[in-house]
Amino acid sequence: MKARDDFDVVIVGGGPAGSTAASVLAQHGRRVLVLEKEEFPRYHIGESLLPFCYFPLQRIGLVERMKASHFPKKYAVQFVSRDGKRSTPFYFFRHMDHEAAQTWQVLRSEFDAMLLDNSRRLGADVRTSVEATDFLREDGRVVGVTAVTPDGGKLEVRAPATIDASGRGALAVKRNGWRKSDPYLNKVALWTYFRGAMRDPGMDEGNTTVAYVPEKGWFWYIPLPDDVVSVGIVAERDYLFNGTNDLAAIYWREVKKNVWIEDHLKPGKQIEEFRVTKEYSYRSEYCAENGLVLVGDAFAFLDPVFSSGVYLALRGGELVGDAVHQALAEGDVSAEGFAAYSQRLCYEIESMRKLVYAFYDHSFSFGRLVREYPDLCGDVTDCLIGNLNKDFQRLFDAVAQQAAVPGPLPHGRPLAAKRSTFRSSDVADTIQLTRTQ
Ligand SMILES: Cc1cc2nc3c(=O)[nH]c(=O)nc-3n(C[C@H](O)[C@H](O)[C@H](O)COP(=O)(O)OP(=O)(O)OC[C@H]3O[C@@H](n4cnc5c(N)ncnc54)[C@H](O)[C@@H]3O)c2cc1C
Repeated sequence: MKARDDFDVVIVGGGPAGSTAASVLAQHGRRVLVLEKEEFPRYHIGESLLPFCYFPLQRIGLVERMKASHFPKKYAVQFVSRDGKRSTPFYFFRHMDHEAAQTWQVLRSEFDAMLLDNSRRLGADVRTSVEATDFLREDGRVVGVTAVTPDGGKLEVRAPATIDASGRGALAVKRNGWRKSDPYLNKVALWTYFRGAMRDPGMDEGNTTVAYVPEKGWFWYIPLPDDVVSVGIVAERDYLFNGTNDLAAIYWREVKKNVWIEDHLKPGKQIEEFRVTKEYSYRSEYCAENGLVLVGDAFAFLDPVFSSGVYLALRGGELVGDAVHQALAEGDVSAEGFAAYSQRLCYEIESMRKLVYAFYDHSFSFGRLVREYPDLCGDVTDCLIGNLNKDFQRLFDAVAQQAAVPGPLPHGRPLAAKRSTFRSSDVADTIQLTRTQ
């Protein structure tokens, strides 16, 4: 059996990164195929958005849908100290005179389905329950992917450009051995969901709370629709799993260590099983090879303490959509053509990464930093809201007086290789969706 279709780009993964890239490319008039291995809606962790998510969402036409949604409005992030005291919430509107200052806590099943439906609406061909299994290579460049359907059928999909947006499934990283773990951010997360747990009053009811566990880690407390909260602990694996693998025992042991978390959970009823994620922060050794470019968690995953993952996925999706469109227009999908894309993305990731390192440094305190350098308060806020495309040198010079600030990771650039060009006349001949079995 043989089906035939023509695509400019094949995208592996229909999460926020893949669907945003698909929408941007479709807006550019590109013919896009998205392969998503799950049937949507599907569960996903990563529920708290940053204000700057607004801008990619606006670009792909979803702000009004977000405003009309039942997702709790998030105006602030707040920190709860080791002894259970809540800080003054960090209201985004105090720094940002724009409606983007109010963001959302999302049910990822619904949010991701909305994004993927939007890609369809804009013209992308989206196929769910199709899992990409490997990349097709010819003459030193990636020319598409192999995939399987639920009935075991095998597909070959060819296109001049392939985007890997497979999230932590990280197809290219796994196939190529490109995973580079972050040397320090080696944490694990353990979480579950409660209904009826306490919410803070008024506009604070949708805040993200980050609550410290003495010396060891932190809890997130994220209010979701239908009176549900997502509550998880992030800490070193050796600390959390010391002496037991019993997830419930570990979780409730940690809950007792922060009185704010304990009190807020008291009226709640646990409604889901415990979930755990290991293999924490990493970055791919390369962001691109000829014909292939990586985005979102498929490229890099950063500790979620500042809720940056979905923002980086949306932002990366937008950047990669533009970069691939330009590469196709120039008829050159060589790895090095994605150098500017990688530089921009790595720069934004590095700014957030420095702040994450500071967070885990016991000698660092945000309060002390802004007391000593009140003029840097705006820069700190810019990091926390996702306004990462700016010069933070002064901020991190000041942070370095309290905490060790890491240098940038050396990897994440395009794989240097000989140029890979294609003639536009190749496109109609070579791009096809062929069912081989
Ligand atoms: C514990 C934890 C807490 C987090 N909290 C937050 C938070 O509060 N806020 C935040 O912004 N971020 C958070 N994140 C990060 C966030 O979940 C991710 O950064 C975000 O989902 C990345 O989007 P993505 O599109 O790159 O990947 P994903 O959302 O994972 O999407 C990838 C898609 O690709 C599909 N796929 C995978 N392999 C294949 C294949 N071979 N073929 C076809 N399809 C495939 C998957 O089914 C999936 O739908 C958290 C992460 C963790 C682990």
